[in-house]
Amino acid sequence: MMRIPFIPEDAPFNGDQRSWLSGFLAGLHSRLSLQDVPGAAVAAGASAAALTPVNILFGTQTGNAEAVANDAAAAAAANGFTPVVQALDDVELDTFAAMSHVIIVISTYGEGEMPDNAELFWQALSADTAPRMEALSFGILALGDTGYDDFCQAGKLIDMRLEQLGAQRFATRLDCDIDFEDPAANWIAETLPKIPRETNSPNGEVASAPPAVQAPAKSKWSRKSPYPSLIAANRLLSGETSAKEIRHYEFSLGDSEISYAAGDALGVMPVNDPVLVDAFLDHLGTTADANVEGINGAFGEALLKSLEVCTPSKDFVKAVEARAKNDELSHVLNNGDKEALDGWLWGRDTLDVLRLLPAGELSAAEFASLLKPLQHRAYSISSSPLEAPDHIHLTIASVRYRTHGRDHGGVCSTFLADRIAKNGKAGIFLSPNKAFRLPEDQQRPVIMVGPGTGIAPFRAFLQERRATSATGKNWLFFGDQHKASDFIYEDELTSLSNQGVLNRLDLAFSRDQDQKIYVQNRMMENGKDLYRWLEDGAFFYVCGDATRMAKDVDQALHDVIRKFGGKSMAETDAYVADLKREKRYLRDVY
Ligand code: NAP
Repeated sequence: MMRIPFIPEDAPFNGDQRSWLSGFLAGLHSRLSLQDVPGAAVAAGASAAALTPVNILFGTQTGNAEAVANDAAAAAAANGFTPVVQALDDVELDTFAAMSHVIIVISTYGEGEMPDNAELFWQALSADTAPRMEALSFGILALGDTGYDDFCQAGKLIDMRLEQLGAQRFATRLDCDIDFEDPAANWIAETLPKIPRETNSPNGEVASAPPAVQAPAKSKWSRKSPYPSLIAANRLLSGETSAKEIRHYEFSLGDSEISYAAGDALGVMPVNDPVLVDAFLDHLGTTADANVEGINGAFGEALLKSLEVCTPSKDFVKAVEARAKNDELSHVLNNGDKEALDGWLWGRDTLDVLRLLPAGELSAAEFASLLKPLQHRAYSISSSPLEAPDHIHLTIASVRYRTHGRDHGGVCSTFLADRIAKNGKAGIFLSPNKAFRLPEDQQRPVIMVGPGTGIAPFRAFLQERRATSATGKNWLFFGDQHKASDFIYEDELTSLSNQGVLNRLDLAFSRDQDQKIYVQNRMMENGKDLYRWLEDGAFFYVCGDATRMAKDVDQALHDVIRKFGGKSMAETDAYVADLKREKRYLRDVY
């Protein structure tokens, strides 16, 4: 008899993984049982061998690495392994060191940082106290973006550290760019056969793969095949005097069968601005219907829908520098000063850079070869399916600025705001973020920090808490520049307060007084209560700008715990690490 894996109660799966794996194993079981039926074809040795366990660990910020880890698990299971999928931070280092075969799927976040749910793991792995790991064999699949200097840095660091600790690679690390799906799938397919099979039968028979088993059904809509969704609402939230333009959108789910959860994000496929496309065609001395080497279909269509024509790629900037004889650009590019280069690029888009060259200097084919593919933009969903089952709401600030003598616009935010006709459609797909969820225990208090459009997932959370009549208390920290023009969703928040759903609302309008006041100032002012809520088991959520706000809010959280919990620095760090370990400190920031 083949050993049929089962999932013990305390096995480290979240609800989704558990239900998926149960279904998967049930299917596997029925297929394997078939092999025991007299007369059924049984692969040589299969009946006496056990399935080889493989641990598939992920570190994810937006859910991509987790999705790839689940794909790897499906492929591993179909190839005769027993996969166990976990977030890196859910694994103690000693447990990790005792594993035999490990696949790590990890994204890089911010400027070469570990994603939130791999941070504690990395701290332990990189410490001097990390144990030797000679018995561990591993393969790393790193996800990243070549637009960043520290491309796939998190994967590289773990790869290097495991080698230092004596672990063996069964596959060479793969560093994937934003188009990760096909390379990742190929790497998984090539890597699985390299994992040594374990034997457990007395005569050393090697387990052979059971028949292929179907992976769980995935949404039919994806980045490569988005659902054309009708924009049912597009309204301005910010006031007339606001320096910003913040809009509320409602995307119809129609017959898509997309089901979402509060905390998920929505991918939107933008279309570039035709005015910008015309400017490129003009400068390149070509036309929209031209056939260009390396481009499928008409060039104009590719510039509109397939190529990133706003953010200049590194290769493009280098190619222009080589021909432009522009001292300033040559200086910032060649002196290795990243900050100077970022400063030079700030406010310049691809057209600004192209215009450093005389018209016609770069051929259309050469130009196209230097561009990256146009990517979707992901936005945190601002509705709960319990209150908006047929629509997904988004809250988006339109990016508009004037520099270098031209008006510039954000690719997707202005596509949605300006270029979709009434009742027009946009391509969408769901980007689940299973790590960013309300507590399962509805009695738990919830603290949410979301200035600006960072309020989006918290509107969804509050709707959800109302719809489920959750008894846990809810506290929101929100702010923006001015109360008069930027207090978005004020009516809704007032209703939520009146209904007893929103128990505390602390506001920080930064520019209504001489001195800036930010959400973290409000946290400190209310630190005693905040600490008490944490002690009462509150979940602490942050959404919005990662570079400044989320770092300052993290510092404020530490300060509150130290001051109002009467703790040392080390005790405070341990308290925050526990919050993370217990998945009570969750962030949706970029
Ligand atoms: P914003 O630029 O973040 O401004 C909102 C408020 O935050 C303003 O009052 C601003 O004040 C203040 N602020 C500035 N620096 C701060 C700091 N260090 N700490 C705390 N508050 C600070 O708002 P936004 O235009 O809505 O942009 C939100 C940002 O979050 C964008 O970068 C967006 O991409 C990101 N975002 C991310 C997610 C996500 O990760 N899922 C979702 C939504 C938005 P002053 O301007 O007066 O200094």
